[in-house]
Amino acid sequence: MLTAQEALDHLLPHAQAVDEVERVATQAALGRVLAEDLASLVDVPPLDNSSMDGYAIRCADLSAADMTLQVGQRIPAGSVGQALQARQAARIFTGAPIPAGADAIVMQEDTSLLASENAGPADRVLINHLPSSGQWIRRRGEDLMAGKVALTAGTFLRPQELGVAASAGLTHLMVKRRVRVAAFFTGDELALPGEPLKPGGIYNSNRDTLLACLRSLGCAPTDLGIVPDRLDTTRAALRAASANHDLIITSGGVSVGEEDHIKPAVNAEGRLDLWQIAIKPGKPLAFGAVRKGTDAASGETWFMGLPGNPVSSFLTFLLFVRPFILLLQGRNDINPHRYFMRADFDWLRADRRNEFLRVKVNPAGGLDLFSNQSSGVLTSASWGDGLVDCPPNQPIQRGAMVAYIPFSELLS
Ligand code: AMP
Ligand code: MG
Repeated sequence: MLTAQEALDHLLPHAQAVDEVERVATQAALGRVLAEDLASLVDVPPLDNSSMDGYAIRCADLSAADMTLQVGQRIPAGSVGQALQARQAARIFTGAPIPAGADAIVMQEDTSLLASENAGPADRVLINHLPSSGQWIRRRGEDLMAGKVALTAGTFLRPQELGVAASAGLTHLMVKRRVRVAAFFTGDELALPGEPLKPGGIYNSNRDTLLACLRSLGCAPTDLGIVPDRLDTTRAALRAASANHDLIITSGGVSVGEEDHIKPAVNAEGRLDLWQIAIKPGKPLAFGAVRKGTDAASGETWFMGLPGNPVSSFLTFLLFVRPFILLLQGRNDINPHRYFMRADFDWLRADRRNEFLRVKVNPAGGLDLFSNQSSGVLTSASWGDGLVDCPPNQPIQRGAMVAYIPFSELLS
């Protein structure tokens, strides 16, 4: 049996990022992977500007003895004022450029207007406290600098990265093309929701879980449906899947019973290693490649066969398929963050394998355990918000600190 890390060490060196890139509108780039470093076209902010509604002043004009200034001009956001005259203040609003000569902003809550209700050129303003130089000024380029890298190649684009790209002035981004993944699901017992269940039948849940996992990672999935437990049908599905994809994933049929046809089918259409990984749930994982055509020159499509049990299938996807796909996408951040959190449960029957327990963060900041940790009970994963990575043979006592990986870290 391999440890999870040994399996990753075998697997990940094979994953080479796809070469093809696409130019997409910034607005359409959510969930894509940046293909090149992105430099800002502008300084952000473009000029020193006010972070408050208030008055731009020169600190040297104020002293404890005299705290009033003449309001000489009004500078709303989007307009540029005049240089500040001696002993004058400029009425200024959030985002407006600091006028030449001003060195601090006094927020309007710290002032009293001495003449009319609305500050005009004739009015005087009383500053309530001596300001400190530079206060409430946002400096030119403090967010982004023109010509400097704002986002690096390999960045997964979340909403905030699209905003950064837009503030850098970019209408379009170069991203990696989507990784194309074909999926099929083996098992004579499987039916699709909406179909009647025959005796001994179950609904195919892995299809929805795995296709949605692929979409969350920004892949373009192809659903090849349910494939009967026969060698010929499994081989035919592999041939169909190999043509236009980077990776084929399957669920079920990776054990070594005579109803498990993945191993002989992939071996006939390419090559395969069947691994026993010392994790729970999980354990069997097949990794190999399927020939794209009849001759060696046409290349190969990667193959990963996941176990059929719904939790095993989901977990092996998150632990092994996800990092492989992220490398195909050219991502630079493939390791999920782990957090050390307090277990508010006992888990005393530690397994010889590395267990991944489904848990949920509770309002007290600890972790609760789902009562049924069976590999067939998928509600454990929907109840939970993450996994505890539990080393082999190590029971957990209530109150111990454990390694917690949120599902949110594993689904993007
Ligand atoms: P297998 O890996 O084919 O031996 O299947 C292991 C268990 O997972 C069996 O109980 C199967 O019925 C179940 N299973 C296999 N594929 C699926 C699927 N697509 N959806 C839900 N359960 C499945
Ligand atoms: Mg099966």
